[in-house]
Amino acid sequence: MSTWVTGKIIDIKNWTDQLFSLIVRAPVNTFIAGQFTKIKIKINNIIVQRAYSYLNAPHNPNLEFYIATVLEGKCTPLLCTLRPGDTLMLTKKAYGRFILNEIPNCKNLWMLASGTGIGPYLSILEDHDKRLYQFSNIVLVHAVRFSKNLNYLSQIRKLQKFYNGKLHVQTIISQEESYSSLFGRIPNLIENDSLEKEVGLQLDINNSHVMLCGNPKMIQDTKEILNKKYGMQDHLRYKPGHVTQERYW
Ligand SMILES: Cc1cc2nc3c(=O)[nH]c(=O)nc-3n(C[C@H](O)[C@H](O)[C@H](O)COP(=O)(O)OP(=O)(O)OC[C@H]3O[C@@H](n4cnc5c(N)ncnc54)[C@H](O)[C@@H]3O)c2cc1C
Repeated sequence: MSTWVTGKIIDIKNWTDQLFSLIVRAPVNTFIAGQFTKIKIKINNIIVQRAYSYLNAPHNPNLEFYIATVLEGKCTPLLCTLRPGDTLMLTKKAYGRFILNEIPNCKNLWMLASGTGIGPYLSILEDHDKRLYQFSNIVLVHAVRFSKNLNYLSQIRKLQKFYNGKLHVQTIISQEESYSSLFGRIPNLIENDSLEKEVGLQLDINNSHVMLCGNPKMIQDTKEILNKKYGMQDHLRYKPGHVTQERYW
């Protein structure tokens, strides 16, 4: 049974009509960057709970969650009506193994996100954990549908400066062309080598580990290409591999 604590919303960033971030203060246990909590709300006698990744670093008391409203969903149409001062419930404990401790040593770490799947990577990068320095290169890829959905780009650019050449950033947009982003989907851009060419680094089985977070279709299709092209396999505790994933649905 989970232990729940009450969180108070102290701020809300409304990015677009379907993307928002909640900033919450709550007496949760310390978590590890990359983990998630469960949020529970009760509105009009309806109780729903869902998993949400922490986007803030563990040392930051402002708990941040980057959320997409799913119009036909049960939880997010209610979550997006909350206002500063409102309360919600969070599990005291955090969950998940999408964390640096679970990533094997390698030269190049690829962090591939679709949509709100960027959250755990920002938590990891903002954490400045010494394990990040074991990688020669970290490649952060954020794939979205429209450029208006690149809501954390200024924070990402600051991180890029902080990591001083180690962090490579690539944005991808699938529904409109933009001069500063690649056009298309992550799996196709790996299949036709565009992503590697644009980043200037090669994906390969000997030097790379790939983290995938967000849309399950992106994850499935990317895993298939990584396997077909490079022979990459899931990284499991009992069977080391090259791909670690966090599916959002
Ligand atoms: C470990 C973990 C971490 C997660 N972290 C986040 C996070 O940081 N931010 C976030 O926005 N979501 C996150 N999710 C997804 C979240 O838990 C909910 O599934 C999501 O918010 C939809 O909830 P809902 O009740 O509104 O929709 P539901 O009623 O659960 O879903 C309705 C249908 O919508 C589809 N769907 C679900 N989520 C999405 C989506 N995001 N975009 C498009 N279609 C969708 C599914 O096909 C589903 O059948 C995470 C999920 C997991 C498992």
